[in-house]
Amino acid sequence: MHLEDWHTHSSFCRHATGNLEQYVTAAINKKFNVIGLSAHFPYEILDGIENMPYQEYSMPIDELDSYIFNAINLREKYKNQISVKVAFELDFVEKQVDKHRKYLERYSDQLDYIIGSIHNLNTSFGLFAFDDFRFLKDYTKFEDTDEIYTNYFQTMQAMISSDRFNFTTIGHFDLPKKFNILPNNKELIIEEEFKTLEMAKKREVVIEINTSGLRRPIKEQYPSKEIIKEMYNLGIDVILGSDAHHPNEIGYEFKSSIRLLKNIGYKRLTHFDKMVKSYIKI
Ligand SMILES: [Zn+2]
Ligand SMILES: [Zn+2]
Repeated sequence: MHLEDWHTHSSFCRHATGNLEQYVTAAINKKFNVIGLSAHFPYEILDGIENMPYQEYSMPIDELDSYIFNAINLREKYKNQISVKVAFELDFVEKQVDKHRKYLERYSDQLDYIIGSIHNLNTSFGLFAFDDFRFLKDYTKFEDTDEIYTNYFQTMQAMISSDRFNFTTIGHFDLPKKFNILPNNKELIIEEEFKTLEMAKKREVVIEINTSGLRRPIKEQYPSKEIIKEMYNLGIDVILGSDAHHPNEIGYEFKSSIRLLKNIGYKRLTHFDKMVKSYIKI
């Protein structure tokens, strides 16, 4: 089977184990055809991060050159064994979209794709890293969990409609379910989710099937089966990512995820080369 993993991290990200080369060689050993290196883009340029341990979330700005240089070298070194793709997982933070642009532009010729993700929400008490378990205690600052979900999906809608935020792929679509804290009003949140999907279809962005949710308390891939079915109905393209933070996690539960996608009706997965989409059969 032709296998491609489009979401991985490394020691550049400060909270992941293993250097870039260890991820590449692990993917070769697992007989993968593609490994996408998608380091978290630096946070330090953002405002309102004083209260979060942002040094543990990503590399500092002054390592960007080294990351790209390393990734390109590995692409060349292993080109006869695997296709190494170079990318970032880029946070969308409303009203701060322009902060990363001048840095990203430097590398635009090198990037194969960009994952647009939301790990932080703008709230009345500042920027909130809702997917960091150390901040679970602050969930009580919200009226209820629906407020977190609504904020999250409205932020994603702003990401999709932003003409200044360049990205190819939506990362871990329903991330707020990570800790198995579910919405009170399921119908309300499904409505927001489906509205977000329609916007994603309009912009023709890809949505990743991210298997890291299966390793979290929710024990389910992002997004849920119900959402993937609606994605299929809308004709939204999908791509697979393990969100590996350890080389062992490359390709985590890909076979069962491909089975799930096929059962829903999907016949192809997306592939990227220099920001241009193509497809592989499943
Ligand atoms: Zn990470
Ligand atoms: Zn992420």
